[in-house]
Amino acid sequence: MISELAKKLVPYVAGEQPHDKSYVKLNTNENPYSPSPEVAKAIAAFDAARLKLYPDPDCTALRDAIAKKEGVERENVFVGNGSDEVLGFAFLALFNKDAPVKFADVTYSFYPVYCELFGLPYEKVPLTDNYILNRQGYADCGGAVFANPNAPTGIWEDVSEYANKNFPVIIDEAYIDFSGKESLAKSAAKSANAVTVKTFSKSYGLAGMRCGYAVASAENIEGINRVKNGFNSYSVNALTQTAALAAIRDEEYHKSTVKKVIGTRGKLIARLKEMGYACLNSSANFVLATTPDGNGGRVYEYLKENGVLVRFFDAPRLRDKLRITVGTDEEAEKLISALKRM
Ligand code: PMP
Repeated sequence: MISELAKKLVPYVAGEQPHDKSYVKLNTNENPYSPSPEVAKAIAAFDAARLKLYPDPDCTALRDAIAKKEGVERENVFVGNGSDEVLGFAFLALFNKDAPVKFADVTYSFYPVYCELFGLPYEKVPLTDNYILNRQGYADCGGAVFANPNAPTGIWEDVSEYANKNFPVIIDEAYIDFSGKESLAKSAAKSANAVTVKTFSKSYGLAGMRCGYAVASAENIEGINRVKNGFNSYSVNALTQTAALAAIRDEEYHKSTVKKVIGTRGKLIARLKEMGYACLNSSANFVLATTPDGNGGRVYEYLKENGVLVRFFDAPRLRDKLRITVGTDEEAEKLISALKRM
């Protein structure tokens, strides 16, 4: 008895989360390092009796901490159950059905799924041969979405001009902390049209807690909040709010893990290049590598059989490539030695 919409929807396919924990898991861009020890302390101190009550629907304490970090006000921050949810709410809050929403042909594959789910027309604007944005393609649109750094390319570009347009723009900064570049969050708070979206899943090592946030003008945040309250008033659970708050307060730890990941990224790219893999210049915690034989699927299968999980996209412009999450130095070495044995 499922609806026509559910029948036709081609859902987003997330990377595998295998029950077998022995894999070297480099397939979903998680942080190889645990969250701050302050998170473990906050969870241990969490009184389970609090769970009989609903959580703070406005995530007040967490929004205040995020606002402080981003240099904006509480009214400029929205918190959701992972940035995927925040993105979904933002699509509904910002985009209309009268003109296509535009995004790159090679970008986060959830964007077209949201458009299909919400009945929004959309158009893919091909990246250049070097996987760079084709900016002319966004001259005339109902809205635009940019992942910056882009996924799965890892390429960062200056998209600040899009915080000053007459159409709504979502800038998905899930990986910005690995780029060494400035976030557009502060500009978005002052902008009429731009919403930046960030996550605790990557640089904070909290993928399992599900927490993401948006920074934008008070008006745009209010729109996202209306959508949230039209769907699920309590989307962020109490324990998640507690954990994310502890994580964001430990900026020193955050910086140190980001630094370690960036260090491994450089070594991983160098090792892959030595082996004939062409790598795009990554500003994220993953590397998009073209396999020497141009057959990403084959290398993916080989690695999986040999205990290493990476991500393969059976999609145009990506079939000769693998997206490899930057793990620890040791994990990178395991990947390289598996490739050497191939
Ligand atoms: N944006 C991009 C570009 C991503 O790669 C991801 C992770 N799959 C997300 C958003 C969502 O992350 P989360 O829901 O864990 O915050």
